[in-house]
Amino acid sequence: MSRRQREHEEGQAKLTKSLSKNPSPPAPLPASGARGEGVAIGRDPASGARGEGVAIGRDPASGARGESFAIGRDPASGVRGESFAIGRDPASGARGEGFSVGSKCGIDRRQFLDAAIGTGLAAAAVSACAAETAEKATQPGTYRETLETPLVGRHQVVVAGGGPSGVIAALAAARSGADTLLIERYAFLGGNGTAGLMTCYNGFRNQRPPEALQTVKGIPAEYIAELVRLGGVTDVDPYPHAKHDVRAGDLPYCIGFDAEAAKIAALNLLAKEGVKLRLHSWVVGPMMDGVRVVGVVVESKSGRQAIAADVVVDATGDGDVAARAGAPFMGPASQGDRMGMSLMYQVGGVPASIEGTFGGIRIGGHHAEHGRVVRWGPGFGGDGLDVENLTRAEVETRRKLWEDVQALRKKPGHESIYLALTATGIGVRETRRILGEYVVTEQDAIRSTRFPDVVAISSNPMPSYHGTRFFFEHEGFEIPYRSLLPKKIDGLVLTGRCISCEQAPFQSARSMAPAMAVGHGSGCAAALAAKERVEPRNLNVQALQKLLVSQKAELRM
Ligand SMILES: Cc1cc2nc3c(=O)[nH]c(=O)nc-3n(C[C@H](O)[C@H](O)[C@H](O)COP(=O)(O)OP(=O)(O)OC[C@H]3O[C@@H](n4cnc5c(N)ncnc54)[C@H](O)[C@@H]3O)c2cc1C
Repeated sequence: MSRRQREHEEGQAKLTKSLSKNPSPPAPLPASGARGEGVAIGRDPASGARGEGVAIGRDPASGARGESFAIGRDPASGVRGESFAIGRDPASGARGEGFSVGSKCGIDRRQFLDAAIGTGLAAAAVSACAAETAEKATQPGTYRETLETPLVGRHQVVVAGGGPSGVIAALAAARSGADTLLIERYAFLGGNGTAGLMTCYNGFRNQRPPEALQTVKGIPAEYIAELVRLGGVTDVDPYPHAKHDVRAGDLPYCIGFDAEAAKIAALNLLAKEGVKLRLHSWVVGPMMDGVRVVGVVVESKSGRQAIAADVVVDATGDGDVAARAGAPFMGPASQGDRMGMSLMYQVGGVPASIEGTFGGIRIGGHHAEHGRVVRWGPGFGGDGLDVENLTRAEVETRRKLWEDVQALRKKPGHESIYLALTATGIGVRETRRILGEYVVTEQDAIRSTRFPDVVAISSNPMPSYHGTRFFFEHEGFEIPYRSLLPKKIDGLVLTGRCISCEQAPFQSARSMAPAMAVGHGSGCAAALAAKERVEPRNLNVQALQKLLVSQKAELRM
């Protein structure tokens, strides 16, 4: 028996053994002839949802020695066990060599080649591979991915999430000299402030007489100045207390704003500061080197891509990056009741004859003449991170809202009212609070504990714990840098509503003005850490505070 024949026989035996493990080999072994010239095309059109495979085994010009060219492909294999195999020997020469890439089923490279070379069995082999992959893919339990993700960028600071906190963090990082990228899943910026149809930024100052100190300044105040310049600050202040002239830079406790102007204000400032921007991109996980976050993995219409960073700022609101990096977090159930979700909406055509708040907040400025009112729509409970619960929430609240507005229109004098707009998604108030190096407690908030590493101040009420009136006498509380540092994980700084605190201070600091102030702190910290090549937890806090003060942040009450 010649060497070629022996190889063929062995290959066929191995392949047959491998195929026999498969309960339902999808393709019969073709009788390709003793020496294997030929063209083979194998296809598994019936594999459907379970991993269709298209396979081509081909030997278009094999000549006497049975060269073979084979392509096996499983285009729909998805995350794990996708099989893409190429066996190829386009110009084989004497021995019919070939190569194969990435067979992830029970047929290894050698078997694949043995099968392909000179026998025309490549198609059957690949079909079998696809079927086996599909078999594994549909096993109950987990689906193990094997991915190679292209690295498409590298930055000193990457901010994940373009809400109020993330936008300010990115501005602060760039202002502090870091090459900064801001990543956002939506097509626009502003987070819950714009996507959630908010109308007022709460918490720029405390309400304690006589001075009612402005506790949020610096870059957040610059952002409000840009909103003013765009005509995006509305006259509405639903909180009856001392008046301040926002247009003169004297920021009141609550600033009514136009969401569309807010989106543009963010874009303008980011462009001016040189922040790179990536929209339409979900951060699906961190890139890890041990316990250090070294970048993020994003999914978008461009596919799955990796972006390296010296320091990542988690501004996703939900602490997605930190949680997926393995940082421990506090669930809402553990302390007090979870704050519920609400679908915000706008009605238009509210006639002038209807006075008062009309169950919401009247939109001021140029919208006022159209009788627009933002209202709190139907609420929903449960976990704001559970996609099934979120789906139920959207279906039920949207249906209910539609019916509510139709019922409203039937009331005499309300016929002109219509549902003008609903939020991009239901507003999720509370999810993860990441466990940090320090947890700000309710008592810290109540007693206004002073921290040597203060980076921001929150002077907003904690409604469920102490009501709103309490805070008319409260100066606010300090947020220490340590509450921005997740336990166990390096290379990562927290910002916004996922910072490390108990639920009572969370209710205060989650408001958008304090979230922006924290963003200022986290952005400066990330830039300093990246530039000085130190871990965020080892940062010189005095240097950080000095930088913040130089950017006009307020750190003292
Ligand atoms: C119904 C409701 C009413 C509220 N009313 C007010 C109010 O009147 N005034 C007030 O000041 N505050 C209000 N709040 C609170 C406030 O809106 C939020 O707490 C605040 O927006 C938090 O800011 P943030 O930047 O931390 O997070 P968010 O505003 O949630 O921003 C997070 C951003 O990250 C993006 N993102 C999330 N995950 C990913 C990911 N994996 N990859 C990429 N991008 C991601 C999001 O799209 C979003 O843009 C309200 C909240 C709700 C739900």
